[in-house]
Amino acid sequence: MGSLSISKGDGDKPHAVCVPFPAQGHINPMFKLAKLLHFRGFHITFVHTEFNRNRLLRSHGPHFLDGLPSFNFEAIPDGLPPSDAVDSTQDIPSLCFSTDRSCIGPFRELLQKLNNTNSTGAPPVSCIVSDGSMLFTLDAAEELGVPEVLLWTASACGLLGYAQYRNLVERGLTPFKDPYFSTNGDLETAIDWIPAMEGITLKYIPSFVRTTNPDDIMLNFIQTMTDRFHRASAVLFNTFSALEQPVLAALPTHFPLLYSIGPLPLLLNQLPDDEIKSLGSNLWKEDPVCLEWLDSKHPSSVVYVNFGSITVMTPSQLVEFAWGLADSGQQFLWIVRPDLVTGDAAVLPADFMAETADRGILVPWCDQERVLSHPAVGGFLTHSGWNSTVESIVNAVAVISWPFFAEQQTNCWYCCEKWGIGIEIDSEVKRGAVEKQVRELMEGEKGKELRRRAMEWKWLAEEATATPTGSSYLNLEDLINNVLLSTP
Ligand code: UDP
Repeated sequence: MGSLSISKGDGDKPHAVCVPFPAQGHINPMFKLAKLLHFRGFHITFVHTEFNRNRLLRSHGPHFLDGLPSFNFEAIPDGLPPSDAVDSTQDIPSLCFSTDRSCIGPFRELLQKLNNTNSTGAPPVSCIVSDGSMLFTLDAAEELGVPEVLLWTASACGLLGYAQYRNLVERGLTPFKDPYFSTNGDLETAIDWIPAMEGITLKYIPSFVRTTNPDDIMLNFIQTMTDRFHRASAVLFNTFSALEQPVLAALPTHFPLLYSIGPLPLLLNQLPDDEIKSLGSNLWKEDPVCLEWLDSKHPSSVVYVNFGSITVMTPSQLVEFAWGLADSGQQFLWIVRPDLVTGDAAVLPADFMAETADRGILVPWCDQERVLSHPAVGGFLTHSGWNSTVESIVNAVAVISWPFFAEQQTNCWYCCEKWGIGIEIDSEVKRGAVEKQVRELMEGEKGKELRRRAMEWKWLAEEATATPTGSSYLNLEDLINNVLLSTP
């Protein structure tokens, strides 16, 4: 990629304003894309919410967002009431509701400030790269007359599921008629009209359909969101053609140009090491000790357990996972966020801690990409968030999937049924099932087969991102040259 970077004076540079949805799983891929664009000669303004800016500074120190030449940070309010609860789990429906209603004003003001180039010294804004859930940005891009592209940070299969919501409402499949989803909203109902999803049931359609309320925030947000996609110049996916091409081909025809430009971690790995590459985006401080602990373990001997940044569980689910891990006899690295358990601090039984002290380690947050690429990791018990899925594919790590919400259910179905890299664990988790599946993953024939398939996907991901012929590499080039650098 090195030879292709643009070298210009700052004033001549294209200027991309990158606006992630303010949750970890959205910030990380947007941050990677921003770095790739910076490397290709763009001036970058990366827009956090004020809440997350304060979190980042609290976690990493006052200079964390100082930026670097041509890579600046800005912040706008998220519209939620002020909160001191820095470590509380983010409430996604509230954030969707508030950002959609209240961010456009502050965002317009920010763009005005950025375009006052005499005072900023930066080039004028030439394009907006926004999260697919931050669609207020479309109005601002149209007013400014610059192209806007949407980064869809979840899976393409997840978006295909979301694109069915209007249809599901019209067919009377959601909102559900009873709160236990056992009559009209039976989760086993076959959804048989979606190409590339043959055999799927309602259970694996993104979970926001599981409501009895016709005014449910997410049920409605998703429908208006997908309706608005056509106003963007392009939609970008952190995926690759070999993995999701049939799904991309099945997306609604009113969507704009679709670009698969992933896995972003692999494209980023190819850049030379420099200061930009080392800029971070983790809302929590990463624990370094777990990497040292992994260094002392044999290859493929540790099961890594992490449910991402938003998943929460009940105290009894936590205990079932704990005893399942203990009874499996395997070594484990378990990331237990301070807010992982609903209503209370996550407290694990003292006898579990004593019994597993010599083969398990618990930390609150880690550098997951480094953990997944560590040779000691032999399997991943995950909630199947899309970034975690992509990061495990990139490292050929097979998974046990315990999807929590949103399109994680769809990712789980594809991992287990289509891509052959995972086994699912029931949402009503029981220690016996955890024990059996962890053993199977780490020691059984099924685990071997899952790892073999994961390795095949890893090779295909590498092929897709290879310079200069990989499909994702070429798509990124095309996107830059024909969309982001074009004048509408
Ligand atoms: N992550 C991390 N350390 C952790 C947990 C998560 O670095 O201890 C990162 C992970 O690598 C991924 C993101 O946070 O990039 C989580 O995104 P994902 O889509 O997997 O799940 P979400 O948090 O959105 O549910």
